[in-house]
Amino acid sequence: MYVYAGPPELLAQVRPGVMGAPIASSADIDGLTPDDEPFTYVVDLEGTLRIAPRRSEHVACAGGRPVLAAGEIAFERVHGEWGVTEVSNQSTGYCPDPASWREVAEALDRAGIARPDGFTATFVFRHCPGCGELNVVKDEDYVCVFCGCGLSGLSGLSGP
Ligand SMILES: [Zn+2]
Repeated sequence: MYVYAGPPELLAQVRPGVMGAPIASSADIDGLTPDDEPFTYVVDLEGTLRIAPRRSEHVACAGGRPVLAAGEIAFERVHGEWGVTEVSNQSTGYCPDPASWREVAEALDRAGIARPDGFTATFVFRHCPGCGELNVVKDEDYVCVFCGCGLSGLSGLSGP
């Protein structure tokens, strides 16, 4: 479970009861406009995938609540059924581990939406123990880009 850890002013803009659209089946994607891709998504605490237009903040998509997973997702329609073409764990508000894929896969499987075998883009987030800034770790380079401190390389599944 991931609790929102981004800027407080974004959390303050969340309106009660306004969340991303729940996706329980392929048909739930029909009414969404392709221009909104890739969508912002969260998997809520009930395990439901919720998506919102890409400019939406994850914390707004989640109604301000903790999530099981968060990131960006894109769909493509093949033979009348929607499938996932791209999906990542990119959310600097929630900083989900690569291991959150399991929750994304379960939510998509329950909705009957075809998916890849894992994130098509995986991000590793680390708060620097020295300066406190949030780093997005690339190429397993576990060094703070702001101050040069070493970052913990430990992560749920894929750490070195
Ligand atoms: Zn630092």
